[in-house]
Amino acid sequence: MLSKFFGKHIKVNLLFRTESLPGDQVGLTYPIGAAGNPYTDRIIISIDPNKAANRPDVMIAKTIIHELIHASIERLIHLYQAGIASTDDGKSLNALIAYYKKFPMANPKFNIQDWEHGYMVQHYLATIGIALKEFDNNPNIPLCFYKMLAWEGLYTTPYWTKLDPAKSSAINNAILNYKNSQIISPCIN
Ligand SMILES: [Zn+2]
Repeated sequence: MLSKFFGKHIKVNLLFRTESLPGDQVGLTYPIGAAGNPYTDRIIISIDPNKAANRPDVMIAKTIIHELIHASIERLIHLYQAGIASTDDGKSLNALIAYYKKFPMANPKFNIQDWEHGYMVQHYLATIGIALKEFDNNPNIPLCFYKMLAWEGLYTTPYWTKLDPAKSSAINNAILNYKNSQIISPCIN
C-alpha cells in the first residue's frame, strides 16, 4: 500500500510513535524541520493510542492512511523546496507543484495542515476510499461508503464547505454512525 503513495523508487524514512494528542486529533504528522521532530532525516507519524482504541479498525486504517498522505506531501514539498525533486516522483510531484504555485503556502489564509487537506481532497479522496475498501475486504459494502469515510479530517477545507449541505450532512452522519455504532449508511450522490 505504501508504494501507491510514495512511488516505487523513493526511500522514505518514517518513524511511527504514540503520544497523547490535543482535541479530537487521532493522528499527527511531523515533517522534517517541524517543532516536535528532532530528526533531520525522517518524518514522524504520531498516533494517539487512547483515541485509536475507541475507533473501528477501518477508521484506524483511515487515520494511518491520512497521515501517510501528509507525510508523502511533506516529503515532496521538502524535495521541491530543496531543489532535489526527482523525476521518479512523476505525476504526483507535478500535481503538487501545480497546486503549490496556485495556492502559495505563504498565503496567511492557509495553515500548512489545511493546505495539505485541500490537496488531499483534490487528489487522494478516492484513493483513500479504495484503500479502505481493500483493507476492510467486505464485498457487501460498496466503495462509495468508504469514500464517505475518507472525508473524516478534511472538514476544514473549502471543498467541504462548498458541498451541497444535504450531502455534507449525510457524509458527516455516515461517519459518526459508523464510528459510534459501525452502521453502514447508504451512499449519497
Ligand atoms: Zn490531516
